[in-house]
Amino acid sequence: MTLSRLLSGLTATTPLLMASCVSVVDLSSREASTCEVHKTRMEVETVRGSTGYPGYVPGYIEVMEQEFPHHRGQRLLGAEYPAVKVEQVKVHVCSECDEAYRTYWAERNS
Ligand SMILES: [Zn+2]
Repeated sequence: MTLSRLLSGLTATTPLLMASCVSVVDLSSREASTCEVHKTRMEVETVRGSTGYPGYVPGYIEVMEQEFPHHRGQRLLGAEYPAVKVEQVKVHVCSECDEAYRTYWAERNS
């Protein structure tokens, strides 16, 4: 493929990409402000988002939902927003969830 063909292809699809691009998704308004696991009061923060699917570690979703649902790490929203490019997510963050999340990954990466 020549460069000019590549560029014309990009130009043709650019409006579509931009139409489906949402940089920040706000999930905080439909969340509770108290962590159901640790009973702590949470703050709304903007964390990294991605439209990937979190199936890369078997059992991760179950552990995350039960032990650290409100961590500060990247949120994977592919199931909820399959056609949207999500870069940041506004969510409630629990500091105890975040610590459990970091411990989980530190143990796996060591
Ligand atoms: Zn928590």
